[in-house]
Amino acid sequence: MALQFELLPVTPFMQNCTLLWDEQSRAAVLTDVGGETERLLGEVAARGLDLQAVWLTHGHVDHVGGVVDLTKQVDVPVLGPHADDDFWIQQLPAITQAYRFPFSPPFTPTRWLNEGDTLTLGEHVFEVLHIPGHTPGHVVLYCAAAKLLVAGDVLFLESIGRTDFPRGNHADLIRNIREKILVLPDDTRVITGHGAMTTIGHEKRHNPFLR
Ligand SMILES: [Zn+2]
Ligand SMILES: [Zn+2]
Repeated sequence: MALQFELLPVTPFMQNCTLLWDEQSRAAVLTDVGGETERLLGEVAARGLDLQAVWLTHGHVDHVGGVVDLTKQVDVPVLGPHADDDFWIQQLPAITQAYRFPFSPPFTPTRWLNEGDTLTLGEHVFEVLHIPGHTPGHVVLYCAAAKLLVAGDVLFLESIGRTDFPRGNHADLIRNIREKILVLPDDTRVITGHGAMTTIGHEKRHNPFLR
């Protein structure tokens, strides 16, 4: 019944693609598929898991650059991010080339996500929170029962996401983190988009951007 996860850093940006799975049913999802399809599918197969979907937090290349390649090999729905990140995903051909990533065409997710939507993995329910600021369509995924937050590039260990990109907004980011994320229980574990995990309690006490 337990919800399990493994961080699988991908791309030169070491983006924390995360394999989440339900121990009992073996149902699995991959979040933020930035690249390295063969390795990711190898991790799924090695654990005998049944990959059911790709979940995306936002449209940056290190988080979505591998989606088209992966879904050519496994026919799974792509859920998220919020539609306000479509302009990022439509720029993938130019951006993958600019960053020297393997080329990706643009794509359209199977379903855009909105505040209050829910995603399920086996018996585990994740609530969608829309947190614009780093990108306008950034979402984070919160499983209350497992006390786990998939935070993408909103929140890092003692830091927050950059807001100097097109349509970034620092005030929006801070306000949304305060109103929707810092209200979660202190012992909620946070999977960040890059680097180490943290907890809500740690960030409340030690994050210099949120004092
Ligand atoms: Zn990002
Ligand atoms: Zn990132």
